[in-house]
Amino acid sequence: MSDVTVSTRLQPFGTTIFSAISQKAAHHNAINLGQGFPDFDGPEDVKEAAVAAIREGRNQYARSQGIPELVEAIALHQSTHYGLHYDPYTEVNVFSGATEGLMAAMQGLLNPGDEVLFIEPVYDSYPACAALAGASVNYYTLEYPSFAIDEARLRACVTPNTRMILVNSPHNPTGKVFSRDELEIIARVAQEKDLLALTDEVYEHLVYDSATHQPLASFPGMRERTLSISSLGKTWSLTGWKIGWATGPQHLITAAQAAHQFITFASATPFQYGAAHALGTHQQPYLNELHQTYSKRREILFTALKEAGFGVQPPAGTYFMLADFSALFDGDDVAFAHHLIETVGVAAIPPSAFYPSRPDAGRHLIRFAFCKKTTTLLEAAERLITLRA
Ligand code: PMP
Ligand code: GLN
Repeated sequence: MSDVTVSTRLQPFGTTIFSAISQKAAHHNAINLGQGFPDFDGPEDVKEAAVAAIREGRNQYARSQGIPELVEAIALHQSTHYGLHYDPYTEVNVFSGATEGLMAAMQGLLNPGDEVLFIEPVYDSYPACAALAGASVNYYTLEYPSFAIDEARLRACVTPNTRMILVNSPHNPTGKVFSRDELEIIARVAQEKDLLALTDEVYEHLVYDSATHQPLASFPGMRERTLSISSLGKTWSLTGWKIGWATGPQHLITAAQAAHQFITFASATPFQYGAAHALGTHQQPYLNELHQTYSKRREILFTALKEAGFGVQPPAGTYFMLADFSALFDGDDVAFAHHLIETVGVAAIPPSAFYPSRPDAGRHLIRFAFCKKTTTLLEAAERLITLRA
């Protein structure tokens, strides 16, 4: 048999940086502040709802677009939190995580020759989704440290072939929450240039201090051209369940569903029942507590990084902190990530992987995740301070 090789469309992407760093962290017994997954569990009642679904025999394929209980809970979530009204049966779709939602949206909406505009640093799955759809990519690079959106520069990134802009806010890996003014700029450019907007809002409930999450779909003129993606994993600390969803006008949902039916057809039935329970009950007290505990975790990591000598600002959203290590290490981000694991015993993500068009823009930065127990963060702090010496 001839050698089995990865297709030319996927060859440029290799193994994800998250898997690579997690593997190395485990090998060196390092504290893993790299890949963004909690080292604590999701709520008991939500887990019990999935267990009950399994025991009750809800174990066969679900409705392809999502079980009625979940699509109704998602529609209710959008109207309660954002005043966005969607028909649960024609304007909501469930996916196996936001990852599949983004993949299905791009497969369903882009044609070969179309261009998609990504805002860099960019979550690593987006370029792979575009490549599989045969679309080409343009990048708008956010400049450290403000990561601000400039209207003229954004407009200049749109070409006659640009069909879609992807907006991730709160933003991984910078922790930025796009301001109302910046979202207005994006909305204006999208309408002027007749672009579809695909949003990644998986960190919608992880915002701090005075920051608020405002879905792009809620801006005047945007509902009809925006497909909004979110998921259960971050808010409910259940990243392994891989339940995500999209809300949007029927024509955009239909396109994403056209791909979903052939990618997974349906997402895991018992976890959909768990997700419906999570979205349907006791949300506000849970979200208030989530906010409080994450604010504390953010403070611990921020203090630790500052004391260790990193250049760092507390992020307005997400559970990531992007820090400048140039005062501590002479080398690039990948070398520093290896140094941190091998000699300090802490794993973090080198963000040049998030800068496909301008890797140099991320070479002095490193991304830490603080979705970890206080004890884990304090132990990491003790190790990180040794960098100073
Ligand atoms: N988008 C962003 C910006 C993320 O950080 C992640 C990561 N966890 C995802 C999408 C994937 O979400 P899910 O686990 O729901 O597929
Ligand atoms: N979204 C997670 C992060 O940014 C990683 C998820 C994954 O491993 N694909 O760390």
